[in-house]
Order: sequence, then C-alpha cells, then structure tokens
Amino acid sequence: MKVYRFPQGGITFEDSTVPPKNAGVIAFLPVVSVIPLIQHTGGRASPIVGAGDHVREGMLIGRGQGPGSANIHASVPGTVLHTVSWETAEGMNNEALVIRLGGGFEKLGKEEKAFHWEDLKPFALQQLIAEYGVVEMEGSGQPLADILGPIYSRADDDLTTLVVRCVFDDPWLVADYVLCRERFKAVVEGSVIISRSVQIQHIVYAVSHRELDLGAMLLEESKNYDIPASLLPVSCRYPQKNRRELELSLRSYEKREALNLGSFLIMGPATLAAVHDAVKLKKPILDRYVAVGGSAVKTPRVMRVRIGTRLRDLFAECGGFVEEPQKIILGSPLSGRRAADPDEPVIKTSYAAAALLEPQTGGTVMRNCIVCGECRQVCPVALDPEALFKAAKAFPEDVPKTVADCHGCGCCDLVCPSRLPLSTVIQDAGRRK
Ligand code: SF4
Ligand code: SF4
Repeated sequence: MKVYRFPQGGITFEDSTVPPKNAGVIAFLPVVSVIPLIQHTGGRASPIVGAGDHVREGMLIGRGQGPGSANIHASVPGTVLHTVSWETAEGMNNEALVIRLGGGFEKLGKEEKAFHWEDLKPFALQQLIAEYGVVEMEGSGQPLADILGPIYSRADDDLTTLVVRCVFDDPWLVADYVLCRERFKAVVEGSVIISRSVQIQHIVYAVSHRELDLGAMLLEESKNYDIPASLLPVSCRYPQKNRRELELSLRSYEKREALNLGSFLIMGPATLAAVHDAVKLKKPILDRYVAVGGSAVKTPRVMRVRIGTRLRDLFAECGGFVEEPQKIILGSPLSGRRAADPDEPVIKTSYAAAALLEPQTGGTVMRNCIVCGECRQVCPVALDPEALFKAAKAFPEDVPKTVADCHGCGCCDLVCPSRLPLSTVIQDAGRRK
C-alpha cells in the first residue's frame, strides 16, 4: 500500500515520557473547577451567571460574542464561587468562573438519549454545533460555526472534501489516538454530520500508516452512511499533520488516483466526536481526552478530564512529581505553550499537559552556530534557517522575504545542537515583513 508523505525535511520524533496508549482513565471530578470564558480564538464569552448562582451540568454559563467567540457551558454542577482573571505566559488576559462541585449530575452516569438528526437541514445542524460551543479542538479553538459558514455559502460547483485527520506524527497526540479508538463510531458519525451540514460529498480518512487497523475500523463504520469515504495512509514523520504538509500528500493522492477533491476541510477526531455529541446527544463539550506526562510526572496517563480541571489536580492524579518541574507545557513540548500557573485549567483545546525537568527542556544555554547544516536538512519548506536567523539578527529591518514561508513547525529548533531559537526569530521577522 502506498504511503503518502510530504516531499522533504521533517523529523521522526519519539519521547519516552508520554503516557502509554492504553485506554483513557476517567479522571476524578474536580472539587473546584475553573472554567475560562475564552477557550476559542475570539473575544471572551459574556458570563450569564455570577457568584452565588447554582449551575447545572452542561448549562450555558457564557454566551459567545460575535465571530471567533463561542458559548461556554458548566462542565460540572455546583455553585459559582467567584471569577478570577490572570495573564497567560504570552501576556494575554483571561477570565474564568470558579465553580464548587455540588448537586446532582444530569448527564454523568445517566443513559444518553440519542436524537434523530438525519432529517435536519444543513443550517439547523450548523445551529446545533454553534449552540453547544463546538470549536476546533485540535487547533487554536476557532469556532466551527465560523469555519462552516463560508463553506456553506460557496458556489454550487465549488467542491470540498472533508479530511479526517488521524495523523499521529507527534507522540504527544496519544490522547487523540485513544479517543479515536474508543469513540470511532462518534468520530465517523460526526464526520457525516459535518459533511451534511455543508453539503460535502466525499470524506477522506487520513490515517498514519502505523495505525492502518484504525483506518480500517473508521472505513468499515463509514459504510453505514451514504457518503463515500476512502482511506489515505500517510507517514508518521513530523510535521505530517500540519495543513501544508497534509495538503501536499492529499494532492499527490488525488493525482495518483485520478480524483477531483476540490478544496479541503480538515478536522481532527476530538472535534468530530464533539460534533456528534452536540447534534446527536445535544450535549456540549464537558470533557476531553488529555495526555498527562513529561519527565517530572510519576505515572503518565491518558485521562478523560472535565473541562475546568486544574493542572495541579491532573498531575496529582498521576502520582504527583518525581521532582519539581522546571516548565509546564499545555500541548506537546514541540509546539505547545507554557502554562502560566499550575492552577491553569484544562480547556477545550488542551490535548496534553507536560511537566518537564531540566534535561527535557533542553536547557537555556545558547552557543554559537557551528554551521553543521542540520537545520537545513529538516526544514520541510526548504528554507535555510541558519542564514535566515543570522540575517534577522544582523539586519532585522531587511530580512529575505522567504521568512514568510516559515510555518513554525520547530523542526530546526529541535535538531540545532547550539540550541538557537531559530523558529521564534524567523517567525518574528516574518510578522514584521
Ligand atoms: S520552523 Fe520554519 S525554518 Fe524551522 S524548520 Fe520549520 S518551517 Fe523551516
Ligand atoms: S542547526 Fe544550529 S548550529 Fe547547525 S547550522 Fe543550523 S543554526 Fe547552525
């Protein structure tokens, strides 16, 4: 079977401190939840409850305000204690409702009622997806309503293919992998719902070639629906999951198979399972699968965690720390962001939490470039990171225009023996261009 991959560069990334691929463990319910009003790309949701109010599990507590913003729901029942605000490590402000657990659960432990969605019109499906606050959970948190609207309004002859991205090029994506296996029926039905909501006629399951049995499961399940689906085996080389690299593989597949795929709507498994829950179960995003690990963590695990659970509670459930971590990252150490505080909560886009000791952070001491050429070898866009870095340092106002081609994959940083912050400097220069 042909395995598709992007043409050049990239790295094979392994990490022994990620949790094993076992079944997801359901995390304890947090006594105190911190539910941020920004879990998406746009402005904060406007709170509709305040201190002293009782909230039910799944109740709307923050209403999205315009493009980029999304509805926020209570992940647990309880009483709103107060609001907190904090500055993220990147200098952004966020605000959250703090809820003390209390009262009965309406969904947890109850039999889930399935609603018939098959006869709903595309716009009604889109409305349910927006009402239950579904965002792109594998990315920056862009509300799906903002993504689907323009696709729905496209010209009748503009073809779009839904690409279900089950690409595990980074071991820290293990939570998505476990979700994919445990909820494959929801992932497939969510794919069909999305396709119906914007009238897509073809689904491609892009699956890492090492997980072809997972691809076979998805494809077999898709036979229960009338939208044609196919399987695209892709490489596990990082950054295969990136939009640019995945599109290159898709175009090569399209050409080889003499298909016409049009443009691509790319969605990950967590988002599609959330679409299923919103439309079929009328349930907002109450929890998500998170990989908790890193060299500082005693027992790394994949856990199904309520939104609003604080990182310190997650790490405690993994047996705590072997030593105080030097850095806590939300997401993969390769591409995630530094947590400002161990009290930061899990949000809709948190797929991993890594607590790292000094050796795993790579240290902070930078040395001079030794002109080894490693960074050039791994750049998937064929840039010369060494030259761009030096140019951006020497002539910040006059950098080559190719800096704009850098998509920040970080491969160059990872291989640089001098620990130079290549991608950060190149991307900063690109933004100034
Ligand atoms: S971060 Fe930019 S320069 Fe570095 S390897 Fe990736 S694309 Fe190339
Ligand atoms: S990998 Fe680092 S040390 Fe080697 S050429 Fe590139 S910038 Fe210089």
